[in-house]
Amino acid sequence: MALLSDRVLNMATSATLAMAAKARELKAEGKDIIGLSLGEPDFNTPDFVKDAAIQAVNDNYNSYTPVDGYAELKDAIITKFKRDNNLTYNKPQIVVSTGAKQALANIASVLLNKGDEVILPCPYWVSYSDIVKLNEGVPVEVKTSIENDFKLTPQQLEAAITPKTKMIWYSSPCNPSGSVYSKEELRAIADVLQKYPNIIVVSDEIYEHINFIGSHTSMAQFDDMFDRTITVNGVSKAFAMTGWRIGYIGAPEVIARACNKMQGQITSGANCIAQRAVITALNESPTRVQYMIDEFKIRRELILDLLNNIEGFKTNIPEGAFYVFPDISFFFGKTLKGQKIKNATDFSLFLLEYANVATVTGIAFGNPNCIRISYAASQEQIIEAIRRIKDVVS
Ligand code: PMP
Ligand code: GLU
Repeated sequence: MALLSDRVLNMATSATLAMAAKARELKAEGKDIIGLSLGEPDFNTPDFVKDAAIQAVNDNYNSYTPVDGYAELKDAIITKFKRDNNLTYNKPQIVVSTGAKQALANIASVLLNKGDEVILPCPYWVSYSDIVKLNEGVPVEVKTSIENDFKLTPQQLEAAITPKTKMIWYSSPCNPSGSVYSKEELRAIADVLQKYPNIIVVSDEIYEHINFIGSHTSMAQFDDMFDRTITVNGVSKAFAMTGWRIGYIGAPEVIARACNKMQGQITSGANCIAQRAVITALNESPTRVQYMIDEFKIRRELILDLLNNIEGFKTNIPEGAFYVFPDISFFFGKTLKGQKIKNATDFSLFLLEYANVATVTGIAFGNPNCIRISYAASQEQIIEAIRRIKDVVS
């Protein structure tokens, strides 16, 4: 009998985390690696949030919390949904989890039966596909094009729907493409879904505030979609709190209750100190973190300018998040520094080895022609990284 389960053996390692680990390893060996692989803000968690955590420690918050989150945190989430998204949720519709990643894993495990299909517009966030597969679902990848800003069209959605379609999962702003769906685009998608009332939408809005065009639409804002949309969000990105591990959902009550039940057997409630800190974070106006978004915007202009000066890098203009997702298929079949580049993984590994710059292959996001570059790094690091890349590919 094999030691490890087929489940884990068949699962891919998270490419983002694997690349970050590899970059860390090379750094520890003394290599001067610039890490543009991991999607995490390079800012400190804001002081007002840190102070709330310190206060919580001193106030002896040390016990198990309710599995689905402190009541005060649910109130703060309800306030946030109303304030930022004009969404009205009640407490039983909210579940707090150990990061949005756990929220997504809960959703898959409470909704999917073997063979159920989940539509994933490509490129999608790295873990969607494996979370679906882990729960015996079937990811249905729908290719989008850089010319259409990597957005799913209503026609593409319609063509992908089958009697087995259970859900569609997407992020807007999108990791990895940075694309932001407009209200009209989401409405057109909702119009298609009108014909298929049993399909559930998972709207991952974790980059909501990192938006350079200023308008964010939640699928659940459409009255006819509210009862079958799960809104996923968290504090990792907007508040630079990736390591604190707090995410949450607003969902139809029956789904939220199922997630609560699932979480009760798997992890119990999320970390108590982090939950207390997030109460403070969400009760404040998002303008408190605007300085980070302003800086991301400057970096976006910078990195686009620099990349557009390198032959073979084709970019669109990301409207949110902190990634660029250039099409680098120009290099396929070419030999660089004696290395034959066959695909995006070869190219990303080539950049790591010869430019000492860590990126992530697009294959991990369901797009084999691109690589993802995170610009959650200082302007100096971005300038140096792109200079090195230009050097080794020219
Ligand atoms: N969704 C998307 C689109 C992401 O980029 C991330 C990145 N971490 C997550 C979900 C998970 O976030 P976390 O678990 O840190 O809340
Ligand atoms: N979401 C981030 C990324 O895409 C963090 C890594 C991860 O959670 O996989 O890089």
